[in-house]
Parts: sequence; structure tokens; C-alpha cells
Amino acid sequence: MPHDLPKSYDPTAIEDHWAEYWVSEKLFAQSAPSTTVPDQSPGGEAFTILLPPPNVTGNLHMGHMFEHAESDILIRWRRMRGDRVLWVPGTDHAGIATQMLVERAIVAEGKTREGMGREGFVERVWEWRRHYGGAILGQMRRLGASVDWQREYFTMDEHLSAAVREAFVRLHEQGLIYRGAYIVNWCPRCQTAISDLEVVYDEHKGHLWEIRYSVLDGLGRDSGESITVATTRPETMLGDVAVAIHPEDERYLHLHGKKLRLPLMDREIPIVLDEWVSREFGTGAVKVTPAHDPNDFALGERHHLPSINVMDATGHINAEGGAYAGLDRYQARKKIVADLEEQGLLAGIKDHTNNMGHCDRCKTVVEPRLSTQWFVKIQPLADKAIAAVKPDAAGNKAIRIVPEQYEKVYLEWMGNIHDWCISRQLWWGHRIPAWHCAACHKITVPRFNPTVCAHCGSDKITQETDVLDTWFSSGLLPVSVFGWPHITAENRADFDAFYPTSLLVTGFDILFFWVARMIMLGCWFAGDVPMPDGRSRALSDSVPFRKVYIHALVRDANREKMSKTKGNVVDPIEIVKQFGTDAVRFTLASMASPGTDIAFNVARTEGYRAFANKIWNAARFLFMNVDRAAEVGITVDPSALGGMPTVGKDAPLEARWIVAELHATAGKVNQSLENYRYDDAANTIYQFFWGSFCDWYLEIVKLRLDFAETADTAQTQAALTTLVQVFEAALRLLSPFMPFITEEIWHALYDGKPPAKSIALTRYPQAAETAVDAAALEEMSLVQGLIVEVRGLRKEIGVEEKASTPIEVRMDAAAQAVVDRDRVMVERLAKVSELRFVNGIADGLSRHSTPSFDVAVLYERTVDVAAERERLTKDIAKYEKGLAAAERQLGNEGFLAKAPASVVEGLKKQEAETRLLLEKAQAALAALPQK
Ligand SMILES: [Zn+2]
Ligand SMILES: [Zn+2]
Repeated sequence: MPHDLPKSYDPTAIEDHWAEYWVSEKLFAQSAPSTTVPDQSPGGEAFTILLPPPNVTGNLHMGHMFEHAESDILIRWRRMRGDRVLWVPGTDHAGIATQMLVERAIVAEGKTREGMGREGFVERVWEWRRHYGGAILGQMRRLGASVDWQREYFTMDEHLSAAVREAFVRLHEQGLIYRGAYIVNWCPRCQTAISDLEVVYDEHKGHLWEIRYSVLDGLGRDSGESITVATTRPETMLGDVAVAIHPEDERYLHLHGKKLRLPLMDREIPIVLDEWVSREFGTGAVKVTPAHDPNDFALGERHHLPSINVMDATGHINAEGGAYAGLDRYQARKKIVADLEEQGLLAGIKDHTNNMGHCDRCKTVVEPRLSTQWFVKIQPLADKAIAAVKPDAAGNKAIRIVPEQYEKVYLEWMGNIHDWCISRQLWWGHRIPAWHCAACHKITVPRFNPTVCAHCGSDKITQETDVLDTWFSSGLLPVSVFGWPHITAENRADFDAFYPTSLLVTGFDILFFWVARMIMLGCWFAGDVPMPDGRSRALSDSVPFRKVYIHALVRDANREKMSKTKGNVVDPIEIVKQFGTDAVRFTLASMASPGTDIAFNVARTEGYRAFANKIWNAARFLFMNVDRAAEVGITVDPSALGGMPTVGKDAPLEARWIVAELHATAGKVNQSLENYRYDDAANTIYQFFWGSFCDWYLEIVKLRLDFAETADTAQTQAALTTLVQVFEAALRLLSPFMPFITEEIWHALYDGKPPAKSIALTRYPQAAETAVDAAALEEMSLVQGLIVEVRGLRKEIGVEEKASTPIEVRMDAAAQAVVDRDRVMVERLAKVSELRFVNGIADGLSRHSTPSFDVAVLYERTVDVAAERERLTKDIAKYEKGLAAAERQLGNEGFLAKAPASVVEGLKKQEAETRLLLEKAQAALAALPQK
């Protein structure tokens, strides 16, 4: 019976193969339960995750790999628990990023976007997408993410675009979409408005220019007096329409009602009184430029001032800027400062540190600029989104955010939300479905493209040129990927089966961008979809997901943020090439606990590569024995595999013990995954596989696998069966964490005739309801303890590696019975030639003591009395110190009053044990021959 496993573990070879197999076999496709077609899928509860869609322009970075590993572990685990699991992948069209990228490409060809025209350019972007888009999903395929590739979406797909159209039209009908002039963050490079969230601020050393504005007399002549205002952006003064002062500012009481002359523009502007102005700041007088500053805009509205926009979309001064028209904003600044100086109007220049906003995409300095934009009146949507996260009267939350501290962050943001500017001046994206009429100047917002104005019937209509903010479409994904808005009686199986989704795994950085918007749009639109039985849908069933898990950040080994400029970026693809996907996944899992950033350390990945190797070698050892057993007619029945092994009370100790350990491990791993403690789960499996299984169990089971003709066939058969059963279950336990190596070995174990197409489709090990065999754990711990102490002693007294020695052991009768029964384990694993039970260790022997036994190794070489005395003296000092600390704590009334009973009990037990060890060490010291 050949078990086909190459001699050495080569992750690349096996991973490429299985990654392709999983996709081509469509193993992770999931459908809604059908009422007509017999269903092959597990009938458990739905467990659905929507992949945060990476940008179509993106490449996989460590943050993605971490997010995908966490999601995939949960998805594979739940799938193996029998749930109807669905993980939906897709990509985002990423308006700004994609347009920028394609624009750069055509500029390199000597063309321009404007030259190509809108249609040509958009076609070019589609072409780019067909060739290069979504490389990141290809990387996900290779890394084995168990998503349903049949459901892959792109936010510009036809059916998703239909959802965007319907959402816009419906919000417009509901009076929640309006168009208005507003100060937006304008990127002169991207030539579009960008959201507050897309502006990154950093500090720059700049200047504060102080400028004198002349006060005019009643006849419009300079009165000789002036007011000084200060600005960090002198070029905006071209658009000044007033100077504001505080109404109670005593310095300026005599100027109320007066006018000023705006320098360089020779424009008369009023002095206005506004309590918003701070008397303490600067001169207490501020220039008012409504078209170029949000505060000034609000002030201008209060005082019915005009707005003069002096800049065009590219950041150049426009015709409103008089002599400065045509200059770039920074050239204009230079010239204006020079002109002011020449005219003696510059009162001063001060150094000033500016907190300047930059476009997140292209890093250009953002210009606050007045423009006409489309907005969503957000409050009604935000109200629902707040209610979804706040506990209701019964204390239930429709959406739980883990870790919980993010709920507060979310609610604070949602409580201060502003109307959402949803228009972008781009060509790539969902074009706003609104038509402007040249005849009556009204707007038509229809479900189907119109030919005439809905208000006056004129055919002089043109479609709005703006597109929608990318997050408008991605915010709709939870409803749109399952068929909204076309949820009909015949066409709602997906929506019923998978909405609301179960969980969203994502990073903090898109909590507001995306998570908050999905909650607002999901609650708003899904709320209109009746339940399968026709009832209206409550908020708790309108939410896009029931839970949000905010994962940590992956940092470098020194806990520094990875960044290209620092050069400390770890490329996941490179590291996978080096160590294999399984080892990288396991590294990430073993460090992932909620709320803790990961310091990614290659040394750990190397360690988990060794772990994979250890499992590989264990498999080869096991296969070798299975094959040898087959030669003498002993086989393991494949039908005995696939569940959780059990053994009788009369089975050998190591069998009872490893089965008990397996159950305990399965219990802990399941519990840890329930609580998103990937780290605990991974470390528990690691301890079991490497420590219990490989280091102990395999060493012991060798003693039972006797293929000689004279051997006890039943014993060998039983030992082999338990060995294979435990190993097979352990593979399943590990499978969500290391899907590739477990798949490879699992198929080899079944020798090409597996009971399922993949280990991923088998059942996840669950701890038995009945209690774990506690006696087996305790007995094994005694035997292991003895072996460990003997090994330690041998090292200390310098016993040669190969030599076997007699030992003396003192322990109580019950312990003696246990050790006596399995003395062969002690003899083999601790190289003992003879095991003698004694009532007291003979004087002069080097010994180790534990609370349950004393042991000495008999070795020819005489004991180095001086060294032994030194060692015991050190031990005694250590025990005395420990004892004093325990006594101090147990004598502390305050501590006893507060500490839980279990802690006090533990401390008492520890005190008793330490006292025993102290006494033993003192006796041993006294027994040493005197000098
Ligand atoms: Zn930009
Ligand atoms: Zn009209």
C-alpha cells in the first residue's frame, strides 16, 4: 500500500497544485437552499462573510494577507462545523486610483484624457481592467482563500450598477439627495472633490502674512486708518468680500458700519460683525473669503455676502482674479506678496506652522474651494445606523463591533456626521443619473435614461457629468451582491439565505469610509425588503452584518508601521515563496488576538516552517508503519477514520492519554475561535502536535508497533488504529490554519481514495460530551515527569548519551502501580536499565525531587560532593524565598479578603509543595558525606 508522499516537504510544489484544484473543482461554491433541487450543501446555519473588496488596481500586501488569513480560518472552521458557509469575493472600481493610473499610462503615450474624450477614456479604463485588473484576486487564489469564485463581483458590473442607480433615484425621490454650492476639499491634480476622509494632514513650516486694508471715509476715500488681517494663503484675498470683527471688540467700535478697500483689487468691502470671530487671536479682524474657506462660507451665508471663486479646477487664478488671472496659485501668491510689499501694505511676515491637507491619492495640497456638488441628507440614515449599534431596551445590539471599544468610536463619529458629498468630478465611475434641462433648468432623475425633460418636455437635456463617490457603490454591496433591488418572490433565495451577512472582518482604517456607509445604506434599503414570510423587516434584520471584527495592524519586527519610505515592507508573496503559505498563515494566526498589533517576525515564520516539516516527517513515519503492518496483514479500516477516536479504560496509557489530549485540544481550539483568539487556537494546536503527539506519543507508540511473527497482533492493531485515528483528526484540527500541507497528507493517508474531495469538506473535531479521561492525563503526567527528571539528572551528572543506567525511585504505592505498569516507557524514553522502587534514596546519590517522587540515577562516576552541595544550597535558598513570599501573601488580610477563592487555594497548595521540596533538599544536604 504505497502512500505517496515525497521525502522532503516542499511547500511550493504542493501549494500550487492544491490552490488550483480548489478553484477548478469549485469546492467552495455555495448556493441558497433550494426547494426544488435536492440540496447537497450542509443544512446548518448560514455563515456569510463579504470580502472587503480590494481596489482593482491593488496588489496584495501583508495587511490583506492577514485579513484574508483571519477570514479564511473562520470560514474553513465554520464550513467544517457543518454551516452553510459563503465567502463572497470581488474588487472595487476605485474611481480616483484607477483613473489616475490609466491617465498616467496615456500621458506616457503622449495623449491626454481630454483629447481622448469621455467615452474613449472610459473604454480605455475597461481595457486596462480586462488586462491587469484584479491581480490581487489571482494572488488570493494562489494563497488558497476559500471564497466562492462563482460569485466574484466588480463594483461596475451591470447588476451592481443597477443597484447604484436605484439607490440614487430612491434617495432623490425621498428628498434625501440635493445639489448645492459648498466648500469641498478640492484636489487640483485629480480635479475632483474628495471626502474629508481622503484628506491627510501633516505639518508644514509656512508663513503668516499680515496685510493692511484701508478704512474708507464717507466719500469712499482712504481715511488714513487701516485694519490688519493675517492669512496663510494670501492669494485667496482676491476673493475677499468682507472683513469680520467681534461686535464687542473695543478696538474697533468706531469702525462699525465702515467700509474697507481691498488691496490689489480696488474693491470696496464691508466690515461685518460676527461673534464667531475671536478677539484674542491675532488682530481680532479676519478677512472673509466664502468661496475658499468653510468657516468663511458659513459666515458669508449668515451675512448674505456674495461668494467670489477666484480659482479654476486646476488651482490657477481665474478671470475673477484680475491682474493675476492665469497664474498658478503659488505663483500668484509670490506676486501678490511682492505687490503688497511694493505698495507698503504688507504689515509683517511671521513664521507659522500649518496643518496642511493633502490628497490621499496623489499628495497634492488640497484647496478648499466652492463648487456645486451632490449631497445625501444623511441624518435620517445615520439615525438608523446609530440605532443598529446602540443596545435596545432589552440590551440587544443588532450589530456588535469587536473589540467593543470601537463601538464608541463609531457612535461618536456617527453622532457628528455631516451630509455626505457623493459627487466626484471624474470620468471613471457610476455617472450620476440626473439630466439637466436647458429650457426650464430643472433636473430629471429617472430609473431609465430619458429623452425629454420630465418637467417641461424639452429634449434639450444633458446628463450630469459627475460620477458617484466610490463608497456609494461599495456601501451598497451587502444588499446588491444578493440581488437587491430586484428581490421578487421568485428571485430572493440568495437574499433570504445570506442577508444579513454574519460577519465583517476588516481594518480600523475603513470603519468610517466603508463600514459606517454599509450600515447606513444597508439598514435604509434592506428595511424595505419584506421578510420571506411577508412580514415587514425589523432593524435587526435590515443590518448588513451581525458582527464586525476589527483586526489589528501588521507591523515590522520592531513594531514600526510598514512603509515604503522606511523600506521595512514585508512582501507577503516573497515570504510565501520562502517559507510556504501555511507557515506564513500560521505565523499570523499565532500572533493574532483582538486589539493587539502584530510585530511580524520572519524568525517565527521559519519556526512554523519547521513545524510543518515536523508534521510531514510524522506522516512519513506513520505511513512507513502502516505499510509494514500491511505486509503482515494488519490494516486500519478507513471507516474508523473521520470522527473523534475513543479508547476503552483498559487501553494502554499512552492511547488513553493522547485521545484525552486530542479531545481537550479540540475543546480549547473551538472555544478560542468562538472568541477570535486565533493566537490561543494556533498555539494550542502547536503544543498538541509538536509536543504531545510528535515528542511523546510517537516515541511511545514505537514500543507497541511490533511486526515480528511472535508479536501480539491485537496490540499492534489497536496501537496502529489509534495512531492513525489521532493523526487524521489532528490534521483536520490544523486544516483551517494550514490548509495546504493538511490537504496533501490527508489525501496520501487515504491513499488516493479519500472519503471527500477535500479535507476542507470533512468535519471539524469536537470534544466529546463525556468528560475527558482525567486519570489518563494525571497518570501520563507522572510518567512524563519521571522521564524528564531522569533525563535532567543524566545530563547533570554527565551520563554518556548511549549509556543505560539503573534508577532509584521513591513514590507512594498508587504512583508505583502506574509507573510499574508502564515501566517500559520509562526504560526506553529515559534510557533506564533497571527501575528500582525504594523507600528512601540511598545517601550520597545525586537526586531530583518533585512533590510526588524522588529519583536518583545510579552511575559509576562518583558524585561531586562539592557541586552537589552548591546545587542543593542554591535550591534551598530559592525554596525559602518562595515560601516567605507565599506566607507573606497568605498573611495579608487585605489580599485574602479580595482574592478569589481559587487563587487562595492555589497559593496554599503552592506553599505546601514548596515546603515539601525545601524539606527534601535540606535532608539531602544533611545526607551528603562530610568533608
Ligand atoms: Zn489628487
Ligand atoms: Zn425642462
